[in-house]
Amino acid sequence: MKSKLSHIGQSVFARMTALANEHQAINLAQGFPNFNPPLELIEYFYEGLKNGMNQYAPMPGYLPLRQQISKRLLHRYNKIIDPEKEITITTGATQAIYSIISALISPGDKTLILEPAYDSYGPSVLVNSGIPIYVRMDEPLFDIPWEGIKNALKNHDIKLMIINNPHNPTGRIWTKNDYQTLYDITKDKDILFIFDEVYDAMVYDEHTHISALEIPEFWSNSYVCFSFGKTFHTTGWKIAYTVAPEMLSTELRKLHQFTVFSVNTPGQYASAKFMESNPNFINELSSFYEQKRNYFLSGLVKTKFKPLKCEGSYFVLAQHQECLDDEDFCKKMVLEKKVAAIPISAFYHDSYDPKIIRFCFAKNDETLAQANENLLN
Ligand code: PMP
Ligand code: GLN
Repeated sequence: MKSKLSHIGQSVFARMTALANEHQAINLAQGFPNFNPPLELIEYFYEGLKNGMNQYAPMPGYLPLRQQISKRLLHRYNKIIDPEKEITITTGATQAIYSIISALISPGDKTLILEPAYDSYGPSVLVNSGIPIYVRMDEPLFDIPWEGIKNALKNHDIKLMIINNPHNPTGRIWTKNDYQTLYDITKDKDILFIFDEVYDAMVYDEHTHISALEIPEFWSNSYVCFSFGKTFHTTGWKIAYTVAPEMLSTELRKLHQFTVFSVNTPGQYASAKFMESNPNFINELSSFYEQKRNYFLSGLVKTKFKPLKCEGSYFVLAQHQECLDDEDFCKKMVLEKKVAAIPISAFYHDSYDPKIIRFCFAKNDETLAQANENLLN
């Protein structure tokens, strides 16, 4: 059989987590919290299970959840969103992004992806016979590579562009000016956008997250993807939502109904109840994670690593000085230091290796302290 993704192996997140488990290392690799979500959220899940929330949810999502989301988007981003027509609940943002790409991309269509990039983007384009056009962000600052983007737009007929903000793995965030520049260089072209904003509630210091939902120029041709996995510490529940105008939402739902149909009902019920009773939980996430970032960095700066700036997300990048490639370096670190991280070459289609690795600081303080101690000597 000829594989459609012959060059693709197991994801780096699964590999590094398996290696960490095998060697009882602290797992700062795959992005997930090592603490539980709030007990109240778990209790709502159980309440849902007991009260008949055990069958298929409506295909676009449990309506009270979509109504809560719409309320939040109005409050947070000042954007009126129709919960019935413009919000779709998906099995994680990964599925949303895959389904959007499948719905939009025909063979030969080109998608612009900025690298380093979340590892699902490229394969999702490729398996649909699309062509990813990769533009590299320059390390170590990982500024938006405007010249590269302009060249790509000049040399290719780009159908879709994927923007991740706050950015995994670099922690970079977009300013209003960045959106303006993007608009200026794309406004004469017929381009669709996926704004992957799964870390929208984790932005630090003097910054606030600016969502594509706040930029009216992008509304008619954009999908904006969010994930409860990040905001409720429930990556294992795989519940996310995508916001888009009715016409684009309809296209997503055409695929969604045949790939997933609907997302787990008690989890949607619990998320809706929790949003209703704790509207501030999401708003407090930035300060919660900012403390963790600061705590982890205060130890990491004493090690041989040089941490890079992290404005958002729950990841921090760090440069290393060893002559090994970053994947071998991470493997060695698991064996010798009992700490797992992600080699960022995994975020490049050509395995480019800038000698930088990614740590996830969504861990309790004891774990972060132990990791820092292990990395010290
Ligand atoms: N986009 C980015 C940038 C991510 O880091 C992740 C994974 N955490 C996702 C999308 C997928 O999110 P989910 O777990 O909701 O599928
Ligand atoms: N997004 C998570 C990360 O960057 C992992 C998701 C996954 O394992 N597929 O670590």
